Amino acid sequence: MDTQIYLKNVATLEYDPSLCIGCRLCIEVCPHNVFKMAGKKAEIIDRDKCMECGACMLNCVPGALTVKQGVGCAAAVISGFLKGTEPNCDCSGGDACC
Ligand code: SF4
Ligand code: SF4
Repeated sequence: MDTQIYLKNVATLEYDPSLCIGCRLCIEVCPHNVFKMAGKKAEIIDRDKCMECGACMLNCVPGALTVKQGVGCAAAVISGFLKGTEPNCDCSGGDACC
């Protein structure tokens, strides 16, 4: 997955380093290795690798990260992974997905 890159300069991922507390959660949950640590703060390595799953934003307690989440299957897989449930992006409003 590390070699996958989406359209350039279209990812909605935004990062405010002044809010980062260095918890590393974004690095742990990001499936595309968009982040790395730079001292005590996270740093974006390559924004174009972001698939807008929203996992980093959901786990960033101080709100340093924002992204307009996609609604496709990738979002469902990540959501299911984080919740410990089957993939479900709530696209059908309930138990099934897509
Ligand atoms: S999850 Fe947020 S606070 Fe934690 S390292 Fe990443 S950007 Fe910083
Ligand atoms: S939205 Fe998903 S792919 Fe994009 S930086 Fe956050 S965790 Fe990584």
